[in-house]
Amino acid sequence: MTDMHSPDCHHDDAAHHGLKGQALRRALGEAQTRCLTSRERLTEPRRRVLELLLEADGPMKAYDLIAAFGEGGAPAKPPTVYRALEFLERLGFAHRIESLNAFVPCRLDGEGHSAAFLICHCCGAAEEFEPDFTPGRAAAAAKGYAVSSVTLEARGLCPACQAD
Ligand SMILES: [Zn+2]
Ligand SMILES: [Zn+2]
Ligand SMILES: [Zn+2]
Repeated sequence: MTDMHSPDCHHDDAAHHGLKGQALRRALGEAQTRCLTSRERLTEPRRRVLELLLEADGPMKAYDLIAAFGEGGAPAKPPTVYRALEFLERLGFAHRIESLNAFVPCRLDGEGHSAAFLICHCCGAAEEFEPDFTPGRAAAAAKGYAVSSVTLEARGLCPACQAD
């Protein structure tokens, strides 16, 4: 499977592993439950795209998801994946990292939170964190905007990549 890890990263500990086995099944089960509570359907394409995001070791581009979609190796029709991503974003199961034009599963609970990411420019890892405050919200309100989401992207080096 392709991911966005830089081939130039030689930091062994920098591996940020996706979910597997039991943990993956549990995460998918929780997603199913959350869908039922919200009266939404976790259809097979939606479930499959979420599974791919959860399994990945880093942010995934839409074309990687399309290529990896079929369990037997057959690629998906692009609109199937784009529609699934739209759903997953709307329900807060996934976020789009604008600067990478890639998607990650949400690691935090709760719908509609503002997403914030620490992005390592060496290994390509993107770690979600909960911001202490949402920058820009007050300024936007003062200008009369009703802001629905703010995404914060902070770049630097993860702890593993700071070692040399
Ligand atoms: Zn590195
Ligand atoms: Zn999140
Ligand atoms: Zn790193």
